[in-house]
Amino acid sequence: HLEVRELVKRFGAVTALREVSLQAARGEVVALLGPSGCGKSTLLRSVAGLERTDAGTLRLAGRDLRGVPPERREVGMVFQDYALFPHLNVLGNVAYGPRERGLPRLEAERQARAALERVGLPGLETRRSFELSGGQQQRVALARALAVKPQLLLLDEPFSNLDEPLRVRLQAELQPLLRELEITTLLVTHDQREAFALADRVAVLREGQVVQIGTPRAVYARPADAWTARFLGHAN
Ligand code: ATP
Ligand code: MG
Repeated sequence: HLEVRELVKRFGAVTALREVSLQAARGEVVALLGPSGCGKSTLLRSVAGLERTDAGTLRLAGRDLRGVPPERREVGMVFQDYALFPHLNVLGNVAYGPRERGLPRLEAERQARAALERVGLPGLETRRSFELSGGQQQRVALARALAVKPQLLLLDEPFSNLDEPLRVRLQAELQPLLRELEITTLLVTHDQREAFALADRVAVLREGQVVQIGTPRAVYARPADAWTARFLGHAN
């Protein structure tokens, strides 16, 4: 469904992605693990079309994404800091994507309301983002990503700003939602428990490359090399 092939992204002298290849089947949840600076966010931003890549190919649902602008990629993204629009209320935030894709206002708002319901957040449509708790903002960000009915969901550490109990609760809510929607998902996380709980497969990144990919079980049972074993916290 998603096919990333030998993707390269440089920032001046820094090569953030070194021929990264990665595939995800339709409905599959792939967690991306790796140390700070290894290129996780850059990979997500590149797939979303927010970064111009230097080489490699990207295909989603059989479509070549090269040259396709972000709003036409059928991709929804949740950023680590939610990045809600402060000048728009909740409904405006969630309806923004559908509007940008050319839907009339009423239809966009209908889709937005449906998405808010999905994430368990009806009734807050007229609130501004600064009037919401962290967990509520996170739900709005997720609804905003889902409102465009994306082929692919990109989650960049969606829960890392939340305290432990709330994080556990939202992880537990997200799992059935992803299953029900059968939406292909790339999930960046520092939380190995989260990767285990939510992902069909995990990919370990190091310095802009995928060093190992497999089911959580397989990766933890048989890390590809000493570095991966250390990173995953094995005594070695
Ligand atoms: P973290 O876990 O800390 O979020 P990450 O794996 O998401 O890290 P990236 O943000 O993708 O890492 O960064 C990968 C590399 O690219 C880093 O060396 C970073 O400094 C560099 N980089 C990322 N964005 C830019 C940018 N806009 N300009 C220059 N360098 C950048
Ligand atoms: Mg990052």
